[in-house]
Amino acid sequence: MKKSRRAAPAAGHPTPAAAVEPENAVELRDVSVSYGTTVALSGLSLAVARGETVALLGPSGSGKSTALKAIAGFERPSSGRVLLDGVDVTDASPARRGIGVVVQQYALFPHMRVDANVAYGLKARRMPKAEIAARVKAMLEMVGMEGHAHKLPRQLSGGQQQRVAIARALAIRPQVLLLDEPLSALDASLRAEMLLELQALRAELPDIAMVYVTHDQSEALTLADRIAVMRNARLEEIGTAEQLYSRPAGAFTAKFLGGASLLPAISTTVVPDGGAMGSVLAGAHRMKAVAPFAVNPGGRVLVAVRPHAWKLAAGSPAAAAGWAGDGAGDGYTVNSLPGRVESVQWRGAGHRLQVDLIGLSERVTVDLPAMSAVPAPGDLVVLTVEPQHAVLVPAGEL
Ligand code: ADP
Repeated sequence: MKKSRRAAPAAGHPTPAAAVEPENAVELRDVSVSYGTTVALSGLSLAVARGETVALLGPSGSGKSTALKAIAGFERPSSGRVLLDGVDVTDASPARRGIGVVVQQYALFPHMRVDANVAYGLKARRMPKAEIAARVKAMLEMVGMEGHAHKLPRQLSGGQQQRVAIARALAIRPQVLLLDEPLSALDASLRAEMLLELQALRAELPDIAMVYVTHDQSEALTLADRIAVMRNARLEEIGTAEQLYSRPAGAFTAKFLGGASLLPAISTTVVPDGGAMGSVLAGAHRMKAVAPFAVNPGGRVLVAVRPHAWKLAAGSPAAAAGWAGDGAGDGYTVNSLPGRVESVQWRGAGHRLQVDLIGLSERVTVDLPAMSAVPAPGDLVVLTVEPQHAVLVPAGEL
């Protein structure tokens, strides 16, 4: 999380409690939202600091948009509280919250010109005309749309419309900007371009708190200081991209964020609280992996390995000739798993293999850099992984 830019009070001169600015621009306290009998959001607690971007990342239907609507005031929580800058706004209307919102489908007023769209929130706030004109100009310049002020939305491309929508959301100088899948209506190349633009825009708005809803992990990884992984109306896990990527606390995050393969295994060592390197048996194969939590011998775990972490053992596939039997573990090296190549896909920068592990009935995804000798479907190979690139996660349901 970004550190607050405000100076701490000098020692010996405590600031009176009433004058202390709250650290969090947005705070959800145990917020639940139901639609009839559907629980769309269940007990979400989340705090977003000033200047911080939090991405809500999860599959469709996991409650991301509902969380955003609860912050914006478009949905009333069935329980829990919503705070902005430390003030409880649970019962306040959306207009009174002064939040900027950008949604997937641009949502510009179709009959209004670009400049009128951007001016809309300012007029509603009865800002003097000259100030409105100046603010609209500045906002359109910020998103690179100053040459389009007099056009109607339908005269713009999707990407341009979304730029105008962002300018409109920022015109009221909100302290909080909510974005709900803002790039998902755009085609792939435009999406990548707009993602870079959003990143640049973020740098120009150092004090705004942003909450960014997406199901696309690359958007979350590019923009967010922290990622909140959502699943079945609940917060599954929250952390920096680095934390979630390299040390996921659960199988769902390992699979959803890192695309990891998960091998069922049984612990053979004691790992104390706080974590260490653990030893496990995955089928008949001995493996060592980072264990970020306490494990006891006999405990069921999963070994998470991301596609890029796998390597082909030297000499593979030829070296695998002796592995073709029953997959029994005698004499196997740690973290060496024999498998049969099921498919090979060329992906420009390298090859993606699907490999069926022998003796484990697991199919794993392996991303190899461009190489001269690419295995073919049906080949036997030996996969290896460095212990520090394999991580144990609790054996929860997926
Ligand atoms: P996400 O943004 O992660 O795709 P949503 O927050 O939109 O998920 O939806 C969460 C759940 O709430 C889903 O099961 C969805 O079908 C349901 N839901 C969302 N909006 C409504 C609504 N207006 N009426 C009824 N059910 C809804």
